[in-house]
Amino acid sequence: MLFPTKALARDQVESMRALAEALGVSAVGMGLYDGDTPPDARRAARARAHAVATNPDMLHRGILPHHERWGRFLGALRYVVVDELHVYRGLFGSHVANVLRRLWRLCRHYGSAPQFIACSATIANPGELARGLSGRPVRVVDRDGAPRGARTFVVLNPQVVDPLTGVRRDYLKVTRDVTDILRTAGVQTLAFCRTRKAVELLTRYMQDEEARDQPERAPSQTIRGYRGGYLPDRRREVERALRSGEARVVAATHALELGIDIGGVDAVVLSGYPGTRAATRQRAGRAGRRGQASLTVLCLSSNPLDQFVASEPSFLWEPTVEHARIDPNNPEVLLPHLRCAAAELGFGDVTSLADAWTGLDATEVHAALSYLAEHGGVVRHILDAPTVETADGDRGERTSELFVGVAGSSPAEEVDLRGTVEENFAVIDEPSGDILAEVDFEDAPLYLHVGAMYPIEGRFYEVRQLAWDARKAFVRRVQADYYTEAICKLRVRVVGGDEADRGPVEVTHGQGLAHVVRSVPGFKKIRLGTHENIGFGPVSLPDLELHTTAAYWASPRTFSEHVPEPERRAATALAVAHALHHVGAMLLMCDRGDLAAVVTGGHPSAWGPVLLPNRRPTAEQVLAAGACPYVVLYDRAPGGAGLASAAAEMSATLLRRTRTVVAACRCGHGCPTCMGPASDDAWEADRGDVLIWLDLAAASLEGGVT
Ligand SMILES: [Zn+2]
Repeated sequence: MLFPTKALARDQVESMRALAEALGVSAVGMGLYDGDTPPDARRAARARAHAVATNPDMLHRGILPHHERWGRFLGALRYVVVDELHVYRGLFGSHVANVLRRLWRLCRHYGSAPQFIACSATIANPGELARGLSGRPVRVVDRDGAPRGARTFVVLNPQVVDPLTGVRRDYLKVTRDVTDILRTAGVQTLAFCRTRKAVELLTRYMQDEEARDQPERAPSQTIRGYRGGYLPDRRREVERALRSGEARVVAATHALELGIDIGGVDAVVLSGYPGTRAATRQRAGRAGRRGQASLTVLCLSSNPLDQFVASEPSFLWEPTVEHARIDPNNPEVLLPHLRCAAAELGFGDVTSLADAWTGLDATEVHAALSYLAEHGGVVRHILDAPTVETADGDRGERTSELFVGVAGSSPAEEVDLRGTVEENFAVIDEPSGDILAEVDFEDAPLYLHVGAMYPIEGRFYEVRQLAWDARKAFVRRVQADYYTEAICKLRVRVVGGDEADRGPVEVTHGQGLAHVVRSVPGFKKIRLGTHENIGFGPVSLPDLELHTTAAYWASPRTFSEHVPEPERRAATALAVAHALHHVGAMLLMCDRGDLAAVVTGGHPSAWGPVLLPNRRPTAEQVLAAGACPYVVLYDRAPGGAGLASAAAEMSATLLRRTRTVVAACRCGHGCPTCMGPASDDAWEADRGDVLIWLDLAAASLEGGVT
């Protein structure tokens, strides 16, 4: 049984053990096998368990490379259960698909042919995804037989407070009001927030209200927070309090989204549109106990995506939800796994390669292995040349080859399924030395700089000292009336690329190595309650750097003649960036999250201001970028995953396809699936401008001068 996280596997093993006990079938052995399992429990799982729960990373590094120890288990394997199938998308999913091919190959070797069973949240293409992941034929069961009470879904667009500028009431305040109404009415409520900060603020505000209304109650028990970074014990405790009903309001991030068993709550509040319809449905699905009525309230923010939902709420219930895409044959993913597979079990002679790898034929497997052999990834042995009889009865002399791993190498150790993962930071209570929480490496500069307020379930801790290399932050509990917010700057530069500007045609597009830098120059202090800015502080921490690969497209020169205003040019470039990102991910069969799209002012070989799609830029940024905006797509995986360069190679197709998508969409002023939703205000791209941009760029690629 494969679960995407250790926590989920643990949860499920506990429930299965309880189930087995209740049934009196003590003979059913459930084993847990992850990085934290002690050696004797590992031996027991291998030797005696009927079912083993693990995660793909452990299967990849801890089980498959040591398959000899698992020979008996693999030879008797009947079912491979893949839970939370929808998580395995994009690059991560492509890696997992290759891990499952390795598993299948070893099962065949030991004499079994297990059946795959997968469960998914709602996505548009569960069958396709399951087929792609498992490499096996699939039958989809999509009828939901669970009894349901009446479900009410409210889409709430905050009122306009300034008719002149169209500014709406702050959605976080609206979230707070809605949650508070449900709290006072005694309705058990789960409030999903977009950020960890929002979780902490909502928890704090609700605790303050509860303390005012019910001084005899302990608000820290009835109002809880739940997010990534909390230690596992704290998370388990909040889950238990939710199930028992002791927790009345829980503010959470999507950390609670994965199939963690908390039972049902009466109401779900969504603070802001979760970004995809699949996530919206999954979170809303937490509302409702067996057969009882339930309520979901979606409080929309003023960002373009949210306002699009406000104008077209039926978008949320349209039958086609997001596709999950994988590309197991992406060479950047496939080749490392073929290396792992060869180290696990040699690839035999050419004729038997036909069934060696799902999704590739013998010639393709042979070509990939030969490439690896030439580059020292595997070792090729030429066996004596027997006469081989092929399927159609041809007798020919053919050299038999055997591809095996390089002696002494452990390729699985070098392949990270989820990209390079840096060690987390520990948040340590200075007086006691206790670890209070964990923070991802990437988030540390934002939340753990000296002077930051680090909140945990409504309590504030001030960061006194940050030991960067030791990955430790020392904090002290304080009574504060403000929280902090880091100021974040993103810069992108593309260097050493191939440019399609040789000859008479001007620079139109190119690709190269990208250097992405995120720096945090300082932070703001913001008063609780009123959210007014009451001060600044400096931050001096190392920048976070990403070295990856990128593709870029210049705004066509003649486009400036069509559109003289810099604002309109910047808006067009942002809309083009959104559309290329969306359609690019579709063509490259990756997840949108595997790629990032930005607009730079001027040629990206120089550091310049960066504009992000769906984020309203400042006037200064528009002025700088509007003169000559470039659209840049880059791989978010460190080192690159070949996606941006593939996008550059297929530029003409990509631009044409994007044009078709933008032209064919029936939305009014843009939507998430074409050029991005329009802003609430006048700053929006014109569809005609976007089409001209794409036409001119495509024409220039096909040889015309723009
Ligand atoms: Zn549209």
